[in-house]
Amino acid sequence: MSQKTPITVAHGDGIGPEIMSATLQILEAAGAALEIETIEIGEKVYLRGNTAGIEPSSWASLLRTKVFLKAPITTPQGGGFKSLNVTTRKTLGQYANVRPCVSYHPFVDTKHPNMDVVIVRENEEDLYAGIEYQLTPEVTSCIKLISRPGSEKIVRYAFEYARLHKRRKVTCFMKDNIMKMTDGLFHKVFDEIGAQYPEIEKEVWIVDIGAAKMADSPETFDVIVMPNLYGDILSDVAAQIAGSVGLAGSANIGDKCAMFEAIHGSAPRRAGQNLANPSGLLLGSVLMLVHINQPDVAERVHNGWLRTIEDGVHTYDIFTEGVSTVKVGTREFAAAVCERLGQKPNRLKPVSYARRPATASAGAGLTAANSAMELKGIDLFVYWPTRNPNTLAEAVGKLAGDGMSLQVIDNRGVKVWPAGMAETFCTDSFRCRFVAEGKTDMVRLLDVAHRVAGAGIEIALTQTLRSFNGQLGYSLVQGQ
Ligand code: NAD
Repeated sequence: MSQKTPITVAHGDGIGPEIMSATLQILEAAGAALEIETIEIGEKVYLRGNTAGIEPSSWASLLRTKVFLKAPITTPQGGGFKSLNVTTRKTLGQYANVRPCVSYHPFVDTKHPNMDVVIVRENEEDLYAGIEYQLTPEVTSCIKLISRPGSEKIVRYAFEYARLHKRRKVTCFMKDNIMKMTDGLFHKVFDEIGAQYPEIEKEVWIVDIGAAKMADSPETFDVIVMPNLYGDILSDVAAQIAGSVGLAGSANIGDKCAMFEAIHGSAPRRAGQNLANPSGLLLGSVLMLVHINQPDVAERVHNGWLRTIEDGVHTYDIFTEGVSTVKVGTREFAAAVCERLGQKPNRLKPVSYARRPATASAGAGLTAANSAMELKGIDLFVYWPTRNPNTLAEAVGKLAGDGMSLQVIDNRGVKVWPAGMAETFCTDSFRCRFVAEGKTDMVRLLDVAHRVAGAGIEIALTQTLRSFNGQLGYSLVQGQ
């Protein structure tokens, strides 16, 4: 191969340097065309007083190469140190987290011998946007953000991944029976984009029963795409039930920069003893080779690795008497993989990777969101420590006026006025919904808020109510 691809490599902490040198040794032996820039991240940088764990010069390298192969790092406890993974993911717009979860029966112990699932998790939105508030002494809130472009990018990525890797099915997990607007949008986008991939089977599960099915019969799934929170939880479940947490790699993909790593941490107690299994990072590097369009090298490395596992050459963490043939250290394992480059497994399924077509782009074809917006009213979340909705209605109802009326008051989403039930438990935070009888404007809505505040009532949060193309852009109150 002539053209070398520049990549940035960090050797990390704990077992990081050992598994990284094993991985790089295998990549080199397999003929990967890489031009490596090395950066320092993690514990040493944190302990120099840099709370981000990464120096500005390292960002420059990442922005130059746009490809990051990262060994695990140790995040010091306390002291305001920020997770480097979260920082990198957010700063570099890595919207997709991809985690293949495969079982290697009978060579690695698992309850699910035929599992081969890829979890594609949205990485930037949902409850992880980090928008939280304390509204009142008793009530906190976290905003769940699901956007059309965010959903389109991740869903298209999942279908492009399935197409490239010849996967037969993409499943969507979400919960739009409850979150009709946010998860409903994710589902709608899944249906719209899925229709552009007629050769791929589509399937949608409500996340709770879908997760139960995945934990019970993972072999019935192929690629699963989901919003951030469900993906965070279920990608760990999937890796665990495959029996291969120590063997799994993952990718964080963005339009500007992608990061590849093992899913395990820096295992400091195992460091420096030639014990650690480099497989997770190696399989992370296989994802990287596919990403940088070196599929032939990816295939050579992956098949050589499968053959090593199948030959029973195992590190301590997967060594089983009667199944394994030899217990090896990190360096010996790397040497065993190098010896098997060019070979294929006999009993495990060999992999094959295709070159990415030049036209494929995960960010392509975002729908322009043009819609006619119309103001309908305003929700005021107020602090009402007596917890009596009837006295609150009396106090704020008369402040409506100007073509607006108090329509409903709820507590934690349940209607408590008019005609509330005495049995409904109330906190000190109520939402008062004012709606306009005809056309209204922002000034009139804010005037209501102004009058409520003027009456000495604490407003914790305001939210305007709108319709979009004639459809209500807000959910009705439970019981309304
Ligand atoms: P860990 O994954 O590092 O280790 C848990 C246990 O799993 C270890 O004690 C070891 O027995 C085993 N193990 C993990 N990887 C192994 C390997 N490659 N080979 C053999 N055995 C292996 O989790 P932890 O102990 O909770 O975390 C240790 C440190 O790693 C913490 O500082 C944590 O913040 C950090 N961490 C970093 C990342 C990352 O950089 N992506 C991810 C998770 C945890």
